[in-house]
Amino acid sequence: MMRDVSRDVDKTHYRNEISNYILAKARELLLLYPLCNNCLGRMFALLGRGLRNYERGQSIKILLSMELSRSIREGDKESIELFRRLAPNIGEIASTLYRELFGEDLKREECFICGSSFEDIINLASRRAVSILEKMDLRSFLIAAKIDQAIRFREDELKRKHKLIFAESIGSELKREVSKRIQKELGLKPDFEQPDIIVEITIPTATVKTHLMPLFLKGLYWKLNRRISQSLWVSRRGIRRYPFSVEEALFILSRIFDSHTSILHASGREDVDARMLGTGRPFIVELKSPSKRSFDMSILSKKVNEYSRNLVKILFTNTASRRDIRIIKEEVGRHTKLYKALITTSSSINEDILSRLEEFYRGREIRQRTPRRVRHRRRDIIRYRIVYSIATRLITDRLFESLIHADAGLYVKELVDGDDGDTTPSFSDLLGVEAKCIELDVVGVLQLK
Ligand SMILES: [Zn+2]
Repeated sequence: MMRDVSRDVDKTHYRNEISNYILAKARELLLLYPLCNNCLGRMFALLGRGLRNYERGQSIKILLSMELSRSIREGDKESIELFRRLAPNIGEIASTLYRELFGEDLKREECFICGSSFEDIINLASRRAVSILEKMDLRSFLIAAKIDQAIRFREDELKRKHKLIFAESIGSELKREVSKRIQKELGLKPDFEQPDIIVEITIPTATVKTHLMPLFLKGLYWKLNRRISQSLWVSRRGIRRYPFSVEEALFILSRIFDSHTSILHASGREDVDARMLGTGRPFIVELKSPSKRSFDMSILSKKVNEYSRNLVKILFTNTASRRDIRIIKEEVGRHTKLYKALITTSSSINEDILSRLEEFYRGREIRQRTPRRVRHRRRDIIRYRIVYSIATRLITDRLFESLIHADAGLYVKELVDGDDGDTTPSFSDLLGVEAKCIELDVVGVLQLK
């Protein structure tokens, strides 16, 4: 038997409640508050996919006007009155029907939440952001929204009073919309972890402020000469203590990246009079507010090395993040170091004595009080460090060279001379003569533990 389709359609027409929630809520809101398309659409932001809130608001207003138009055409007097009340809060979309019904122009109200058309604010903020960012050397960005308190308060109250559970916040909409525009027009990527720049937008003024984020470069350094400090060391009277520093070798980066400061974060440090050879020492340099960010890692190393004239050598290996600084600082405790020391003795020694020394320092624990020479500026504590092994080479009967593999944090000069009994057991103790380290180099920063 054939079904009577027209009767089914008719019934479903009256029973169909699919869009009732949205239309009923929209009617409830617009009876009380004028809302622009964005602010109305935002109250239903979680409904539907791939839509802008502007489109949501516009569609709801169109459908609501159509529904009212239908009841008015069907002769419903109440709907005329309802439309008269709603139209100023709906705005532009209701203006033609309003003029037709009431013979006068519709007086539109400003949006209760944003005070104007949020769409205009988005457009203005996007244009401003694009014109600032297009002049900069950037790859990624992040938008931050600063919303006027009164606006936030009105929006929250509306959501709470009318139980708008599918709404999102004005800040989220702003961030998404401006982000899309920047991506499309400049090809920059939004990055929540480590953006090149933070673009702060204030609502309702559409003011745009930018904050350049620091750039971090990871690398290794070698100190090829003695009397080079790690950081620039200047006395209170402005007189430098040492001719050069690793930090200064990196100063040229500020010029290359047009950054106002560079900060060196190294994984430990060696004495000023010790060279850093062999494996080099890991570090991260932080460049504050760099307006240039494009670079070639190998050219960068070359430029720094030319600038530091063979006193310091740098090899950049990668970019890094702020988290990496903490990692390389924490790694210090897990490092072991390989040193090369040149040692003189007060009386003659021979190879037999030296091989006994090698035998003794095989996994030997050293008790060491903070050395006298640094006690004024370092915490005075007792530390325990392991010497894993040593190797020696006799040069003359009062001069020998020793490779020493030990935990990071061991003061090697004091391991040799004993620091008047504050470091035990020392080379002096074992050799039975006064031993003194006259030259020291770090030849390896290793990670064995
Ligand atoms: Zn609005």
